[in-house]
Amino acid sequence: MDVYGLVGDPVGHSLSPPMHEAAYDAVGMDARYVTFEPDDAAAAVAGAADLGVAGLNVTVPFKEAALDAVDPDPVAARVGAVNTVDFSTDPPTGTNTDVAGVERAFTHHDVDPAGATAVVVGAGGAARAAAFALAEPTAALHVANRTAERAEALAADVRESVGGEVTAGGLDSLAESVPDADLLVNATSVGMETDETPVPADLLHADLAVLDAVYAPLDTRLLREARAAGATTVDGAWMLLYQGAEAFERWTGEEAPVAAMNRALRAELG
Ligand code: NAP
Repeated sequence: MDVYGLVGDPVGHSLSPPMHEAAYDAVGMDARYVTFEPDDAAAAVAGAADLGVAGLNVTVPFKEAALDAVDPDPVAARVGAVNTVDFSTDPPTGTNTDVAGVERAFTHHDVDPAGATAVVVGAGGAARAAAFALAEPTAALHVANRTAERAEALAADVRESVGGEVTAGGLDSLAESVPDADLLVNATSVGMETDETPVPADLLHADLAVLDAVYAPLDTRLLREARAAGATTVDGAWMLLYQGAEAFERWTGEEAPVAAMNRALRAELG
């Protein structure tokens, strides 16, 4: 039996075990997916290799610390965070499948970022993944965050490693950027377990595709207001699903059984 798992703190309510175990059942793999809350993430990742763990996901607050325990691939190095470790190499390889999670969530909804104008709201871990996912294909990217300095810092990182037109500002800059945007990603925690939105409804329009990284609740106020404005909406479970599918594919070399994983995830989310 192969063992995969998740390292984070807390991980008790993680949706990854049912999602990944649904994948193993769907493809007939003899494998389990377990969760760990270590004190020292880098030591845990190093120890997992000795224990014969086949693959690990890494989540908050260890995604940055895990960089020290792996050979980061170019995506993880750019983002500065690891969420997936592959132990089939020595040293283990670290990647960041949140980036593919954003890309594939849009693709699943027939939204093509190529040449688009995008706005990412937030400057934390999810926003970094979204900004690096969108910087290359889009023609212009704007990062807006409550703390404008953090948005500036993320935009500077993206400009330095990807290039292109990347601007930044506080949340007040949404008033100028969202009306002209094709893509909008909420990568703040606003809307999580509350009925708040970081983007005023009157800025939303029918030419937008809106991805909300928040998945609890699934139908956030932002998505409801975007739908009312005629926009295409993509909920946070799609990002979660595709970061998991991408990890599965890295570990196994096989196409992920996305439909089975999606069913398990949505059953958990209600
Ligand atoms: P994080 O690193 O802690 O970043 C939080 C972000 O939210 C920061 O930009 C912060 O702004 C902003 N923020 C927090 N409270 C705010 C408020 N009251 N008003 C305006 N902005 C506020 O968190 P994260 O890991 O990026 O996660 C962000 C969200 O994405 C969470 O809801 C998380 O569950 C979700 N997420 C989803 C996926 C997925 O696969 N769907 C993956 C990762 C994360 P400041 O910089 O000003 O503090």
